[in-house]
Amino acid sequence: MRAVARVDLDALRRNLEVVRGAVGDGVGICPVIKADAYGHGMWLCGSALAEAGVDRFCVATADEAVAAREISSEIPVVVLGALTGPELEVAIGSGAELPVWEEGFVDRVERLAERASGPIKLHLKYDSGMGRLGCRDPERILRMADRIAASDDLELEAVWTHFATADDRSDPFLDEQLEAFLGVVEAVRTEHPETLAHAANSAAVFREASTHLDLVRPGVALYGMDPFGRDPSDLGLEPVLSLVSWVGSLRTLEKGDSVGYGRSWTASGPTEVATVPIGYGDGYRRGLSGKAPVLVGGRRLPVAGTISMDNVAVDLGPPGEAEVDIGDEVVLIGGEGEERILAEDLARLLDTINYEVTCGLSARVPREAAGSR
Ligand SMILES: *Cc1c(COP(=O)(O)O)cnc(C)c1O
Repeated sequence: MRAVARVDLDALRRNLEVVRGAVGDGVGICPVIKADAYGHGMWLCGSALAEAGVDRFCVATADEAVAAREISSEIPVVVLGALTGPELEVAIGSGAELPVWEEGFVDRVERLAERASGPIKLHLKYDSGMGRLGCRDPERILRMADRIAASDDLELEAVWTHFATADDRSDPFLDEQLEAFLGVVEAVRTEHPETLAHAANSAAVFREASTHLDLVRPGVALYGMDPFGRDPSDLGLEPVLSLVSWVGSLRTLEKGDSVGYGRSWTASGPTEVATVPIGYGDGYRRGLSGKAPVLVGGRRLPVAGTISMDNVAVDLGPPGEAEVDIGDEVVLIGGEGEERILAEDLARLLDTINYEVTCGLSARVPREAAGSR
C-alpha cells in the first residue's frame, strides 16, 4: 500500500459526544456524511455513528442516499441537495426523506410516490438568505406546507434552512436568517404543529444555541475539524483522519543536484532526500509543493520541490542526521510524538478550508479504520 487514510472511529464517537454536549438532550443529531463523509469514508464513519446512535443521516445526492441506506436500514436518510429527474427516482427508491421548495417538484414527487413503501417524508426548505436552494417567499412556503399535508402520499416532516455565515462569529447575518426562519417555522406550525425544524450546521451548533431547534446537521465537527478554521481542540474536537505514507526510496544528493519536475528545488549542500509514494493523484495537492511539512520519526521536515502525481520528496537534511530507513512511516496529516499537522494547517497553505483538504483525498487512498470498531 502506498498511502492510507487512517480513520479513528473512537475520535469520531468522542466528537459526536462533544456535539451532543453542545446541543443537550432532546435535540436530534443528524450527521452529514455526504462526499464520502468529507473524504473520511462514508461506510466506516456511518457504521460507527449508527452504532453510537444518531437520529438521521444527511446526504447531498441520490447515490449517497442509497449508500447511507445500506449502512443502516433503521436510521432515516435525508437528502439535502437538488435532485434531477433520474436522481429523484433513485432517491425515492432508497426510501430517503426528500428536500422540496418548488410546487412542480412536489407534484413530481407525488406522482412517483407509488414507488415508495409508504408516504414520502418531505423537508420543506426555506431560503432565509443563503441564496442557493429553497423558497424565499414565506407565503409560498405556507401554501406548499398545506398542499403537502393534504396529500395522502406525502408527509410534511420538517421545515428547514441553511446559514451562510455561521462560521464567522462577527457576522450578524446569522441572526437575521434565524429570525426570518423562526417566523416561517411559527407560521407553518400554527397549521401543522408536528412539523420539525432544523437549521444548524457545525458552526451554528457551537456558536448559537437558539439555532438548535429540533435537529442539528453537523458535518465537519464530527470529523474533528474546526468549523471556524482554527484549532479543533479549542472546541474539544479531535481530528479523525490521518494521512500516512512510507519512505519508498532514499538518496544522498550533492550541492546543486535537483529533485523533481521543473527542478524547483536544488540541494544547497550534501542532503538526504526521501521519496514518498503519494502525490496529487492521491489528493495531496500540488499547491503544497515547497511549502508543506511532513512528519518522519516525530520530526517536522519540509517537502522538497514539486509534488508530482505519484510522488513527493522530503528534505531530510544533512546525510545521517535524520536516521530514516526505507519503509519508515511518513505522516502528511496527523500527529506523531509531539508534532502534528492539521487539515487546517494544509488548508492555510493552500488558501482554502479544512473541508476541501479531506474531501480532496482521492479514491486511490484506502480508508482504514483505526480505533476500536
Ligand atoms: C454540508 C451541509 C451541512 C454540514 O455543514 P458543516 O459545516 O460540515 O457542519 C449542513 N447542512 C447542509 C444543508 C449542508 O449542505
